[in-house]
Amino acid sequence: MEQIKKIENVEENFNLNRSTDKNNKSILLKRARAKYFTLGLMFGLVELKSELKKSYWNTYYCASTIEHDGNKLKSKYCKNRWCLVCNRIRTAVNIVKYSDEVKSWGVDKYFVTLTAPTVLGEFLKNTIDERLNVFQKIMRVFENQKIKFIGIRKLECTYRPLTNKFHPHFHCIIKGKVEAELLLSEWLKRYPDADIRGQNVKQCDDNTVMELFKYFTKLISSGYDKNSDNSPGEYKRKIYINALDIVFLSIRGCRTFQSFGFKAKKIDESKIETVQVDEICDKIQYYYWEKELSDWINKETGEFLTGYKPSEAMKGLIDNISNSETISKQYGNDIEEITKQCCNNIVSIVQ
Ligand SMILES: [Zn+2]
Repeated sequence: MEQIKKIENVEENFNLNRSTDKNNKSILLKRARAKYFTLGLMFGLVELKSELKKSYWNTYYCASTIEHDGNKLKSKYCKNRWCLVCNRIRTAVNIVKYSDEVKSWGVDKYFVTLTAPTVLGEFLKNTIDERLNVFQKIMRVFENQKIKFIGIRKLECTYRPLTNKFHPHFHCIIKGKVEAELLLSEWLKRYPDADIRGQNVKQCDDNTVMELFKYFTKLISSGYDKNSDNSPGEYKRKIYINALDIVFLSIRGCRTFQSFGFKAKKIDESKIETVQVDEICDKIQYYYWEKELSDWINKETGEFLTGYKPSEAMKGLIDNISNSETISKQYGNDIEEITKQCCNNIVSIVQ
């Protein structure tokens, strides 16, 4: 029981000291927000002629019914990578699985970013496969030199709407400075054309580790510099739906998250999916997601499960989901100029 409470608190905000009831309400609210957002995303994705259409529909129905049995709330989850409801759970699972080990490295841990040139959507799948392969080859270099290589690596892919190019890259937490630097130098040997400014080895703390565990938190455009007048306003906080589809197709079947050199803790993931509540019901109650009300409703009693109300900003984000192909058409030859002005802008998509 303690273990479950601990995990739920972790899902909430990684703070283990808050009261359970308050925490669980907060978890439910955040699940409602994740459900609302994911649903908006799926509306866009199912409209595309994608090979993933069926899977997008599965996500559409993820956690659409919640069962209140005893003091537990249960549901069925789609477990797809683009589902924010499932990714919140996945993040909590990762934290429990890996955080004790990573904490035990103390200050001897390094955050390593490995990048290489950006590519057009049509080359993304092959590029990702190749980079994953290169990472495996580097692991073999460590093995051959009998150097213990301990860490976690995560594949992310960002999208740059103005150039319509994708940027798959790795973020890693590595134990030991020498090992972290060796990883980077081996990477650069294989990608001599990689922009050196993109590569990074820096000592990190447990907060950085927590960021790495988060899935899908950066789905939305990171936006232009708010203080810059040169930034075309329409690119602020946007979702480019066809770019997302390209990324999801390209990472299908890929191992985006990998730990190496240590054993992850074994856990029962279903315990993290279940939310405990103080209120105990003697008869099973069902709550159904109502899109218009953005909440799960008990049809017998009319009771709302979470009381979630999407903010105007959230509504705006969903209402303005864009197709990135329209951007190049809109800006035509000015694209290079705009890119220069806003060269740091990227849209982070997926882990
Ligand atoms: Zn899901």
